[in-house]
Amino acid sequence: MADESTAGKTIRSVGVVGAGTMGSGIAQVAAQAGCDVTLVDVAPEALELGLKVIDRSLERLQRKERISAEERAATLGRIVTAVELDAVADCQLVVEAVVEKLEVKRQIFAELDRLCRADAILATNTSSISITRLAAATGRPEKVIGMHFMNPVPVMKLVEVIRGLATGQATYDAVEAAAEAMGKTPVEVHDAPGFVSNRVLMPMINEAIFCLYEGVGDAEAIDRVMQLGMNHPMGPLALADLIGLDVCLDILRVLQEGFGDPKYRPCPLLVKMVDAGYLGRKSGRGFYHY
Ligand code: NAD
Repeated sequence: MADESTAGKTIRSVGVVGAGTMGSGIAQVAAQAGCDVTLVDVAPEALELGLKVIDRSLERLQRKERISAEERAATLGRIVTAVELDAVADCQLVVEAVVEKLEVKRQIFAELDRLCRADAILATNTSSISITRLAAATGRPEKVIGMHFMNPVPVMKLVEVIRGLATGQATYDAVEAAAEAMGKTPVEVHDAPGFVSNRVLMPMINEAIFCLYEGVGDAEAIDRVMQLGMNHPMGPLALADLIGLDVCLDILRVLQEGFGDPKYRPCPLLVKMVDAGYLGRKSGRGFYHY
């Protein structure tokens, strides 16, 4: 494969596209790993909020004496922000974390391919969209890969690393090493709708929403059953609120379309809540009030 230029090189510079729930967390862990980070978002207010969230998270770590005041300042100092995509042109690794919409992501990948240095790895944090399809929007499919962090990024250990059809071994190795440097445990999976994590998780969340919709239990009861009975640290409805109900709906639609199986049909209550703008924690209201 023609991706030898990335082989054996340590990632020192990371671009993150999208400064929302996930992008800000990815920027934080990359900066904590000592990388220079360029965080890009089309919305300046998202960048402002993203930096605030990162600072609060680092402040908590300092209070718990997990990092020093100097480390906190140095980590923040390694993050620069921009509204234009070309700010990531010189990064060795770019992680895309914008909305879960195929067309938006395809366009960003085509642009990144045009803008970024020839040896840059283009990764996506997509929850469910085909890596192979995103790679096909570029002229460097061997350097495109899925790097699926979990929410909240600074806390959760897993990074699902997803190989597209053409992903090169050097790309895989570099991303595996970068994930480890960020304090994460990479797990390799192959390209299929929802990969492993969301193929298993989303049907469970959807079923919990059906239980609420059909009046089998109220939100607290459903969540308590799964917490106390199945030892889940968080109930499925509280978890859906944390993930974002719009994100859950987008993922279920990718599963439904990708497998053509009606078992992934999103619960009508989920559709209605997203239509109403009840998106979970980020909007202040979901299955619970925040
Ligand atoms: P979010 O809505 O919190 O943030 C998305 C950000 O992308 C917004 O700030 C938006 O302004 C920005 N954006 C939109 N279009 C853009 C563009 N063209 N260029 C630059 N920025 C743009 O979403 P999120 O929850 O952070 O999810 C981001 C990605 O991560 C999605 O693909 C999602 O499926 C995936 N993901 C989410 C979770 C989760 O729990 N929320 C977990 C794992 C993976």
